[in-house]
Formats: sequence, C-alpha cells, structure tokens
Amino acid sequence: MSGTEAHVRGAGGRPDGGGDVAARLAQVRERIAVACERAGRSPASVLLIAVTKTHPPELVRAALEAGVTDVGENRVSELVAKMDRVGGGRWHMIGRVQRNKVRLLVGRSVLIHSLGRRQLASALSRRAERLGVVQRVLVQVNVGDDPRKGGCGVDEAADLIAYARDLPNLSVEGLMTMPPLPPGGEDLAEYARPSFRRLRQLRDRVRADWPEVAHLSMGMSGDLEAAVEEGATMVRVGTAIFGPRGSRSWEPLEGE
Ligand SMILES: *Cc1c(COP(=O)(O)O)cnc(C)c1O
Repeated sequence: MSGTEAHVRGAGGRPDGGGDVAARLAQVRERIAVACERAGRSPASVLLIAVTKTHPPELVRAALEAGVTDVGENRVSELVAKMDRVGGGRWHMIGRVQRNKVRLLVGRSVLIHSLGRRQLASALSRRAERLGVVQRVLVQVNVGDDPRKGGCGVDEAADLIAYARDLPNLSVEGLMTMPPLPPGGEDLAEYARPSFRRLRQLRDRVRADWPEVAHLSMGMSGDLEAAVEEGATMVRVGTAIFGPRGSRSWEPLEGE
C-alpha cells in the first residue's frame, strides 16, 4: 500500500487519530466563537459542518464521538457509502449533484447545498414526490462568477428560488456559495469577504418575500471568520479539523 493509499484508507500509516480530531475541533469551535463575539452573534447560531470527503468512515465516527453533529460530503456515491457505514450524524451534500445520482440521494434526509439549475430542482422534486418525502435544499449562488464553480448567477437566483419553491416536494431553506480563490497572494478571508456580503444581501432581499429562505452556508477552513462576521449560519470545514486530504475519494473495498 502506498503512502497515499494508507492516508485514504485510514490504515496504520494515517497521521490523524481521533484525539487530534478532538483537539482541532476545539480550535475550530474557538475560532467560530471569537468571530461570533466580534460580530455580536451567539455561537449557537452557526452550525459547524465537518467536511469528511476522502476520509474513511472510522474518522467520521471519531468526529461524531468528539461532538460533531453534522457531516458534509461532495460526492454522492462517497456520501451514500459512508452514511450507511457510519450510521449516525446529520448529512449534507455540498458538491455538484448529477441528475443520474438523484435516485441515490433523495429519501435519505440529506440537506443538499448545491441546487444551481432548474433541471436538478425538478428531478429532485419528482423523486421526492414518488417517495412521499420533502427534499430540503439550499440554492448555490456563484457570487464571484467563477467559471470553475457551480451555482446560478446572482441575477438568476430569485428566479431559480421561485421555480424551486413552487415545486411540490422541495423546500428551499437558504443559499450557499464558494467564493473565488485569490489569484495572487491576497489574504483568503479578506478576498472572500465581499462575496460573503453579497450572498447575505441577496438572502436578505429574498427572505423579505420568502421567510423560509434563511440559511447562509458559507465559510471554510481558511475564511470561516469572515463568513461568520458576514452572517454565515452554516460553515463547512474540512482541513482545519481533519488535516490535509488525500487526492482520491474514499471507496469501500470489495466486500467491505
Ligand atoms: C472541501 C469543501 C469544503 C471544505 O474545505 P476546507 O478548506 O478543507 O475546509 C467546503 N465546502 C465545499 C463545497 C467543499 O467541497
């Protein structure tokens, strides 16, 4: 087994044990608390989603034991495989959802953060209707118009939300964004801050008509303070809790 595999599989060579996760988790919670203090907010108003992509189910379990309540994944097959093995936690799909994966996802009580197109909205609602459930979603907005990022444009968001909330089995509960990365050596958080602010302003406008569109999913390991100061109600944090990721997604071994 190569070093990379050892990392991805979580075998003996993996640098992070559950103890490190607990210590790092405490540091992340402290960072959130300090940012909340500066912004005059309660830390209870910010939900921490631990992003576990590429990491094995044992590490997800260690995080839950250390007090994590919410888990985020960016690939449907990885999410589904881990969710079945871990058997606890509340799960969030934070990456792109292809329409052929809708069937695997709906019916599992997963909050989808990445609704960016009408076709996906109608496919999700149709599947949810068939199963007799309501699918909860956030609309992803590409506030920085970054061609490498998913989501609808700022100008398209209200139309997409109107379309999605008129579908019978979708519940649109907020907005999500991934800010563009700074092209040079700019400070990550300060570069992202205007994007976070734009998402919040958009949410405020939309919420005036549709009060259920309340959540703001924004902020990651490098910029969570700016996101919290700008109003994030959910932050999605991977590296700061689990350390560096392997390059490949986690997959069960055959027969596992
Ligand atoms: C991986 C990922 C994160 C977490 O990123 P870190 O920098 O490791 O905290 C957050 N959001 C999305 C959509 C991701 O894919």
